Amino acid sequence: MAPPDVIVREVGLRDGLQLVKSFVPTETKLAWMRAVAAAGVPEIETTNFVPAKVIAQFADSADVARGALAIEGPLMCALAPNRKGAENGLATGLKKMNFVLSVSEGHNLANVRKSTDASFAEFENVVALKKERPEWKDVVIQGCLATSFGCTIEGRVDPDRVLRFVDRYLELGADEITLADTVGYAAPSEIANLFHHTVQLAAGKPVYAHFHDTRGLGLANVYAALEAGVRGFDASTGGLGGCPFAPGASGNIVMEDLVFLLEKEGLNTGVDLEKYRLAREIAETTLPNENFYGTILRAGLPKGFVPASKAA
Ligand code: ZN
Repeated sequence: MAPPDVIVREVGLRDGLQLVKSFVPTETKLAWMRAVAAAGVPEIETTNFVPAKVIAQFADSADVARGALAIEGPLMCALAPNRKGAENGLATGLKKMNFVLSVSEGHNLANVRKSTDASFAEFENVVALKKERPEWKDVVIQGCLATSFGCTIEGRVDPDRVLRFVDRYLELGADEITLADTVGYAAPSEIANLFHHTVQLAAGKPVYAHFHDTRGLGLANVYAALEAGVRGFDASTGGLGGCPFAPGASGNIVMEDLVFLLEKEGLNTGVDLEKYRLAREIAETTLPNENFYGTILRAGLPKGFVPASKAA
């Protein structure tokens, strides 16, 4: 099968679950992941290697990662807030770890209780893990910049500061970069501008976009990022994932709708939307009190629709 033109990464198990108070059993998380994998999603962010006392939902992170690695198909990665978390993640056999810091100083302090300088120092410690064991030599370390387009604490975030942070990540050894619109503040022109420069700075290293649909501009922003050269997008099953600062607001962009947009534009994602239904069923059954969004699985695909992967 041809490799996908665009990597869609499922983040429902991580971003989607991080605010869900009721603990989802490990086996249910894995069943959900198996359905996502069976639908052809090429990458899954499986969990967060954060201490259980910080987010109890991820108390089973090592078991989830090990279970995920037994599932054939997708590249499995996980989030880690620090060196210890990254080390625990790599010890399970994961080949990719994602590190996150916020461009907004205030948000970073609130989120990880560190200055951004201290977070970059921690990132250096994460990258240093590659030298610790021969089997970790080629692992991928992704650097994510949260609040790249605005912040609920500081409001506007200076785009030049974002680009300086991109540079700093790359200098310290990031293999990939993600810019995140954590709270859904961005508009397409801002996305186009910042991703255009980020893709240039990354000089061939993958650049991902992480969007929330908090204010309804998620898919418009995807299109702008696509035009700027981005070929990696985060999304979650049914858009699961809220925002603690905007009660009732929708969460991540909806995987099903993202796939439809990309396929309709002739870009192969490798994802079979019919098969993806099972992932949504599992998530909705498991989390009856959460909101799920998206139109395409409700409305159905247009008559005569041919996904990019099947069009010759
Ligand atoms: Zn997010």
